[in-house]
Amino acid sequence: MQSQAKPIIGVLALQGAVEAHKLHIEACGAEFKPVKTAKDFEYIDAFIIPGGESTTMLKLIERFNLWDILKDQFSKKPVWGICAGSILLAKTVLNPEQESFNILPITIKRNGYGRQLDSHYAKIDGYEVSFIRAPIISEIDESVKILASHKSTPVWVKYSDIMATTFHPELTMKYPSPMHRAFIDLI
Ligand code: GLN
Repeated sequence: MQSQAKPIIGVLALQGAVEAHKLHIEACGAEFKPVKTAKDFEYIDAFIIPGGESTTMLKLIERFNLWDILKDQFSKKPVWGICAGSILLAKTVLNPEQESFNILPITIKRNGYGRQLDSHYAKIDGYEVSFIRAPIISEIDESVKILASHKSTPVWVKYSDIMATTFHPELTMKYPSPMHRAFIDLI
């Protein structure tokens, strides 16, 4: 928002890696705010849906009756889904199939690297990031822009003002990550 000196980035704080975003967001000159209620959502300029466990997040969204209000918010503000968050945004979820907001035209396979590679590090855009039980984007609409690939699949994508990463940049303690910078530049 132009009238605001500092954009406020709301990190959906139902479950998952929330606090780790604080120093990255602040290093971009923005304000970090954990959010969980409809009232909190009103005051923020952009959303991060953090990494964690997508099934647990889905249950909590259902339990707190947040589905419709989040869907409405995501249509109005930039959103970045990280790992489990990217699963929640995808059009189609596999392994197993589950419900999603269906706002990012990709098909995503949960825990796509299998047990051998459950968790690993990689350099994306020159920055070390963590893949933790990460999903794999198995299909992508041509309207989605690929910002980075790893092991021949897209891992960082952008579609209008929706961004998704299948990895966690926020756990790396070098601030800010290029992904936080790119997201905040969208606002
Ligand atoms: N495997 C998790 C899921 O399917 C995602 C893992 C993560 O967010 N680091 O939801």
